[in-house]
Amino acid sequence: MAHVQVLPPDEARKIAAGEVIDRPAALVRELIDNAIDAGGTRIELSVDGGGSRRIEVIDDGAGMEKEDLELCWRTHATSKIRSIDDLKSAETLGFRGEALAAAATVSHLEILSSADSREAWRLEVGPGESLGARIERARRKQGTSVRASGLFDTIPARKRFLKREWSEANLCRLTFIDKALAFPAISFRLSLDGKLKTALPVASSLKERFASLLLDSPQAAYLHEIHTAMTRFSVSIVVGGPELARPDRRQQYIFANGRRIQDFSLMQALEYGTQGWFPNGYHPVGAIFVDIDPAMADFNIHPAKREVRFADASSIHHAVTSSLRDFVRHRNQQYAGQVYTVPELELLYTAEPSPQFQNTPNHEIEYTVARTVALDALRENPPEYAPQALLAQPSAPEITSISSSLVPQAMQTEFTAQSSSPTFHSGHELRYVGKAFDIFIIIEKDNRLFFIDQHAAHERILYEQFLVRPVPVQELLVAIPFRTESEEDDQFLNTRRDALERLGVVIKTDCGSWRIEALPAHWNLSDSETVQAILDLKRAGADLAEHWLATLACHRAVKEGDNLDERVALSLAEAALALPVHRCPHGRPILFELSREILLRAVKRV
Ligand code: ADP
Ligand code: MG
Repeated sequence: MAHVQVLPPDEARKIAAGEVIDRPAALVRELIDNAIDAGGTRIELSVDGGGSRRIEVIDDGAGMEKEDLELCWRTHATSKIRSIDDLKSAETLGFRGEALAAAATVSHLEILSSADSREAWRLEVGPGESLGARIERARRKQGTSVRASGLFDTIPARKRFLKREWSEANLCRLTFIDKALAFPAISFRLSLDGKLKTALPVASSLKERFASLLLDSPQAAYLHEIHTAMTRFSVSIVVGGPELARPDRRQQYIFANGRRIQDFSLMQALEYGTQGWFPNGYHPVGAIFVDIDPAMADFNIHPAKREVRFADASSIHHAVTSSLRDFVRHRNQQYAGQVYTVPELELLYTAEPSPQFQNTPNHEIEYTVARTVALDALRENPPEYAPQALLAQPSAPEITSISSSLVPQAMQTEFTAQSSSPTFHSGHELRYVGKAFDIFIIIEKDNRLFFIDQHAAHERILYEQFLVRPVPVQELLVAIPFRTESEEDDQFLNTRRDALERLGVVIKTDCGSWRIEALPAHWNLSDSETVQAILDLKRAGADLAEHWLATLACHRAVKEGDNLDERVALSLAEAALALPVHRCPHGRPILFELSREILLRAVKRV
């Protein structure tokens, strides 16, 4: 007897159906896709028993005529394309004509539909073809209801691999969220086991929909929306500010033409574009929506369309990073002078440190320090260093940095000079209260207490100074030789050597070995740390200058535990409060504010 046999059609269909619908959430996705493709403006999803008992999607879309209904559940029956060439222009979410066929194979399918509110038909089919399809007259307004019940009842092997009911239900809910995020103009409702869980009215923007699905309402204020349009694609980005930062990337979503996709490189773009805006180790929440000419993308590479191949992925990546960078830069300028407060006393008592610095802007304090657009200037017009000339003045008086061992004396000169120029004039006095935990300077001002992180604050002060007044370069008496670990390192050094030199890092190479010949004056890292700091700039991309200056500022700033005397601490605090941006160059807040009122409320005095 031959070993090879053709499978009976019913078995073959079951196997094929498993590719499309591997679990209830997959069917949820397909049915919602169909409702969206039909132009539905109100879509309702009900899921019972984790989807195994019943999944139902009701829409008010175009509906189907009797002839369409009779055909729609057949394998490869679709109204959306006629040939593979049509994929180049298909704007619909579906196009393979597989979903309803798969649903009819693995469940009992009932479809009730009307194309004009006058005539309506009900179709019943499955599981499998054996019973045949029945069709009868019915009543319904225009639109379609699709109900799949007893999912996988006839395929025990698949059913065994389902998770518990609640976790399958949760996967269905997550799929619902994916769809609702991408279509804010559609109103959606979700019920689980007969209970209404989510009702989303039409939203006026992607950001509004994102907020209503994923955030508590006060957090919505920290969401931003950015749009960029290119010739063959456009990108909309919803991104949360540092107030919503998370220690993981779980709330990052990428969409291409309305489908949620897994695309690591676009997730990276979200991170790159917002670098410096977030504390180290925290990630933005947000979503990237790529809308692309279907001819420039292939969605037909994954059975669930979870992956897509872009013809020009790097342009999309670039559009995302650069529009985010522009946005962050403008925002930093616009929000110059923001002070961080605790709106709710309760926050103080949370046991876990909250990554969500629930801050509200406070514009009471006015500043005269105009934030220069120095960063842009620096990019376009990098300062020219002349190592020879600078050799003569390695300790030029304009050097604003200090090494932490020299703290009190050096800082006195630095900050006394600053405080004599009235940078901070609110008309009220600052009073030095004290220090705490080896890191905070505590200041009283205008009925408020400010806890200033001395390292982070000094870091930002230096960073701002470096932007406008570059640090002199000092040639090293003995060059630092080093070896690279990878070709990537060599390539980085070769291509960015000029840029580094403009930042005061002079590197030479011969015969594959490298040496550092000059560094910013008063450089105080060991040789190996220095090499590491330079190679770390590989990841900085276009932001080489910002990263380098941030590194420089970090190393020069006073450290936790450095003992500042009262006058020095006060000057540092004054300069910190006058800063245009109250975040360190890495994005962490540099201070924390408590009002008198909050403290009085804490002891029930008000
Ligand atoms: P595809 O979406 O890939 O075309 P499906 O199996 O999901 O394949 O659906 C088959 C056809 O049935 C669709 O092309 C469409 O014409 C019709 N259809 C399915 N669901 C709906 C709906 N909710 N409203 C109107 N027509 C629908
Ligand atoms: Mg479909």
